[in-house]
Amino acid sequence: MPTGPQHSGVAVLAYNALASWQKEPWKGKEDELSRFSILPDDLFASDYADYCILPDGNAIPHGPTDRFAMVPFSSGYDRSLTRDVFSYYTGRMVAALSSGNIRESIAFGGILAHYIADGCHPAHLWNNLSIYSLLPPPAGKYWQMHRSLDSVSVRADLCRGISPRLLGLDIRETVFNTVDEYERMVQWGKTRLVPAVNALYAEDQGGAEIHINTCYKKAAGLLSSLWNTAFCIASGRFEDNEIESLKEVKLNRTVPVNAFTVDPYFFYPLMDYDCDGKGNLVPLTIKAGVQGGGRMMEFADGIAMTFGYVMYEIPANLFTKIRVKAGVSPLTAREGEAVFRIIDAKTPPVYRDAHNTLVDCGGDILYESGIMTGKDAYTDIEVNPGDAELITLFVECPGKNKNIHAIWAEPVLVK
Ligand SMILES: [Zn+2]
Repeated sequence: MPTGPQHSGVAVLAYNALASWQKEPWKGKEDELSRFSILPDDLFASDYADYCILPDGNAIPHGPTDRFAMVPFSSGYDRSLTRDVFSYYTGRMVAALSSGNIRESIAFGGILAHYIADGCHPAHLWNNLSIYSLLPPPAGKYWQMHRSLDSVSVRADLCRGISPRLLGLDIRETVFNTVDEYERMVQWGKTRLVPAVNALYAEDQGGAEIHINTCYKKAAGLLSSLWNTAFCIASGRFEDNEIESLKEVKLNRTVPVNAFTVDPYFFYPLMDYDCDGKGNLVPLTIKAGVQGGGRMMEFADGIAMTFGYVMYEIPANLFTKIRVKAGVSPLTAREGEAVFRIIDAKTPPVYRDAHNTLVDCGGDILYESGIMTGKDAYTDIEVNPGDAELITLFVECPGKNKNIHAIWAEPVLVK
């Protein structure tokens, strides 16, 4: 993991981005904050080890990992553990601030800093062996990536412009938005692996710093947002425009928990674009109804897929509506038919006969369109997810022709 100075460096960047009323209670206690931001690495030597233990008795992991592994990593991980970590530590930080226990707010805030910084780092998202299998080192060379890349300095000049935002009005909403932002940070970290390792191989320290600092900046941004939110919740102090910014969540910009579709997509729906099957991205296009003049409309936000599904975790009873326009793109082959469904899901849909027959759509149907083709206007859907915790956007192709471009345009969760 980033070592001591890197952990405290990320924490300092986040602290400096806070509003002055939030900095005030922690002012002059930067050393303590720094100590707690390193604590999970020094867990067994510390008198404060208890702060690193989750309610289930396990120690806080070092970034996104499975339930039992202390250290990284894999490409898939247990998101429920990530949620538990944020839920516990944010909850404790808010409780400490609410009761005026500043030292504990620093302890829990500092450990959050550690967890977020660990998750941002490419050499934390893959282990040494898998990095070497992807990118064999130059002949005669060997680095311990976890050390060489973790020791890249935090550079404030490369991390300018951090601006915290509000992640929720209570702990549950905060955790929902934080887990999502954390995932985006993890995904960004993965994209920096190859450039950072190649810079290391070329002994280009400056290049490695540039790549790794983009990751530190993401971590500091998320951390300052989370701390900002904890201070706001603890004091009940929210700006109107921030409350407004939480009214809608774009589903296409959040990270699905599970998905499946087939060619021309990459076994995963395509976000914000459709593709023509010849290697090109094309705009999401569906036909408007009479009100829209019956013309073709293009959308910047949305999801494209053939038959298949995409699943999202949402907090129960937080949102009152899922709103989306569903339609079949004119790219669809003639005779192509699609049925759109929204499911209050318990499991992914179950198929047999190599996905030719649907056995079970995995939960209760909240919405079902009739059969639609590329000649039909899109349909406006609005359903209440109620106490659903897992939502599936699901497309079935009842006809013989499965070559469908099914579009979910502007899908949002509305409070
Ligand atoms: Zn760590």
